[in-house]
Amino acid sequence: MKAAQIERPLAARVVIVPEPVTGADDVLIKVHAAGICGTDLHIFKGEYEATYPLTPGHEFSGEVVAVGANVRNFKVGDRVTADPNIPCNRCSYCQQNEPNQCRNLRAIGVTQNGAFAEYVIAPEGNVFNIGEMSYSAAALIEPLACVVWGLKQVDAQAGNSALVLGAGPMGCLVAQGLRSAGAAQVVVTDVAPWRLRMAENLGVSAAVLADESQASRLKTLSPDGFDIVVDATGIPAVLESAFQYAKPRGKIWVFGVTPIGSFVKFPAYEVFRRDLKIIGSFAVNRTFPQSIALVQSGAIQVEPLISHELPLDEFGRGLEFAEKDPKRMKVHFRMG
Ligand SMILES: [Zn+2]
Ligand SMILES: [Zn+2]
Repeated sequence: MKAAQIERPLAARVVIVPEPVTGADDVLIKVHAAGICGTDLHIFKGEYEATYPLTPGHEFSGEVVAVGANVRNFKVGDRVTADPNIPCNRCSYCQQNEPNQCRNLRAIGVTQNGAFAEYVIAPEGNVFNIGEMSYSAAALIEPLACVVWGLKQVDAQAGNSALVLGAGPMGCLVAQGLRSAGAAQVVVTDVAPWRLRMAENLGVSAAVLADESQASRLKTLSPDGFDIVVDATGIPAVLESAFQYAKPRGKIWVFGVTPIGSFVKFPAYEVFRRDLKIIGSFAVNRTFPQSIALVQSGAIQVEPLISHELPLDEFGRGLEFAEKDPKRMKVHFRMG
């Protein structure tokens, strides 16, 4: 089969490899859509805990083409997506129902071959039916499931006000997630006006250009600050700016992936004086079913976030678009 392979950092090409072997507990999936995520770019550059050579791709959807002898819940022809994270189910964190903190976490597309290929295997327990949802939409269930886990961590409340810094694909998912969790006001900021228009079309309360007048515009929109302030950029300086926008008792949600080893300064006295909380959220934590429900119900729109769709043969171009096309949102490969 065809597969995109990163042989070593910065060396990627499309190769012909044997089809993966379907184990007794595995589902073999013919990939229809797979999205590039920031993690894939880090893997490409050698900045992530990946095993090379590797076929990346952990945000995907497709059709079941074979099932292992022990598989009970899926059959050939089922339309599915899969949670890429494979916890060990044995360590102390798994035993405490915290599989995203598993000490031996493996992941499809990170520590084993992923979905930038014609076929990918996933353990049955990681696979989910997508019903009539389009394959393109279903390849965005994984990033949305990360948002849903964050929403649980943050414990968004009905009527909250929220500020999302960054209106990229993740920022737009976070903004919609906050809305669906009951936030009455969701404001987003971004440096790109066209991304702000997109956020507005997805139903945010206000979209503010991230320039010198951002702080005063946000003050006008919510004079006392926001209950929840989310960094969805991963830029340390942007995260640093988040604290000034939080209300007393406000929560700072660290969602964007900052570079490993980076630090931010925060106003320690203000965190103390205003009862602020700093909350992290990592990956997916058994949040695929909720994410599927949010897309199926129409509560969250994911397809407008796809800016590029390419055949797998153009893997290298796809990485370039995802890295630096100024008009990029989500870059997808379409197979089949
Ligand atoms: Zn991802
Ligand atoms: Zn574990």
